[in-house]
Amino acid sequence: MLGAIEAGGTKFVLAVGPSPETITARTELPTLDSATTLAEAARWFDAQGPVTRLGIGSFGPVDLDPASVGWGRITNTPKGGWAECDIAGYFIDRLGVPVGFDTDVNAAALAEYRAAEGEGCRSLAYLTIGTGIGGGLVLDGRPVHGVAHPEMGHIYPRRHPLDRDFAGICPHHGDCLEGLASGPAIQARWGASLSQLPGDHPAHEIIADYVAQACHMLFAVLAAERVVIGGGVAKTSGLVERIAARTAQLGAGYLPGGARHRVTAPRLGGDAGITGALMLAEATA
Ligand code: ZN
Repeated sequence: MLGAIEAGGTKFVLAVGPSPETITARTELPTLDSATTLAEAARWFDAQGPVTRLGIGSFGPVDLDPASVGWGRITNTPKGGWAECDIAGYFIDRLGVPVGFDTDVNAAALAEYRAAEGEGCRSLAYLTIGTGIGGGLVLDGRPVHGVAHPEMGHIYPRRHPLDRDFAGICPHHGDCLEGLASGPAIQARWGASLSQLPGDHPAHEIIADYVAQACHMLFAVLAAERVVIGGGVAKTSGLVERIAARTAQLGAGYLPGGARHRVTAPRLGGDAGITGALMLAEATA
């Protein structure tokens, strides 16, 4: 039996199943302090019967270096009670099972990659637009880590002409992508969520433009075939279509991948992260 955790900043999703395609039980817990939340998660797994392997897709930043003594930790998060939390180590000790560990967005990218693989897709990025903006990337079936893990939300987009005055809300960068286009940035600018604003409000075009610049970059830098757009803001009616159309405009017909470069909604909906975490469990030794 595989176990999985999608560890988010506001909630933990837990699941068990014999394979990533088959979830036999799942639950959600609010993310409180680490000691409380991890203990509660472990008790839930105890109650499901023994799991033999566990996968964790976690909010970050995290240490993914297998050679590091800090592997499996959430590192310098500002989230209270979670900095330097040894989340993988906790479950290795507490449940006595091997743990596969990656970012929440790499887990989601893995699951969407598997769903797209049947169509011959060999490179896929997953971007989440929600409380923050993050991205994961899978090339030839493997999540890309580089020296740590991607932080796609912290690139600097070119400013939209109708959005010159907003300083952005990222505490590190101000007007990076997350500082301009995350849910809290939308709220700070317009006092409402994107889905609450009327369809002809310029916010839709502005946010689509910023996210499209990230998609174009993924196509141009990595020749990624597909960018999947998830997260709460991405549920706004018409947004993914606007992003896809704007991305095509930015590419201007030049990229050699042509129509194979696609921007889509998640095929697995809200289940991408937890399905990917089950895949991390499946892949661990
Ligand atoms: Zn930033």
